[in-house]
Amino acid sequence: MEIPNAVKMLIWRACHDSLPTNQNLFKREIVESPLCTVCKTDPETVSHALWSCISVQDVWGSCSKRLRKVVVMEKSFKEILSYIFSVNEDEVADFAAIVYQFWRRRNSLVFEEKFLAPEIVVQLAHQAVLNYKEAV
Ligand SMILES: [Zn+2]
Repeated sequence: MEIPNAVKMLIWRACHDSLPTNQNLFKREIVESPLCTVCKTDPETVSHALWSCISVQDVWGSCSKRLRKVVVMEKSFKEILSYIFSVNEDEVADFAAIVYQFWRRRNSLVFEEKFLAPEIVVQLAHQAVLNYKEAV
């Protein structure tokens, strides 16, 4: 698989619901609210942060038709990932790169109060995939 290790690690953690989302941190009494840092309306679960939050919908909206369709299915992270693997393995790298950028964007909002525009997220993800393919 042509995916950088840091991205693989994030995907693995997302599949096992072990990302430090507000929901998970709230369960462990580390934060005071389970709500999403970005939209502040729904609990920040893995699937909320990575595809159902309104802040990521516009990014998915600008992706390939297939990825967009997959994301609309609203299944668990694991199910969506295995679905992408089953239809088109080539898109797994793109999907993973976008997910990775979403998580970075979410963290930069939490820790630095910075939030990138959707088109920048797509650009960064696309560039990361190209750079990695060139380097391998
Ligand atoms: Zn949200």
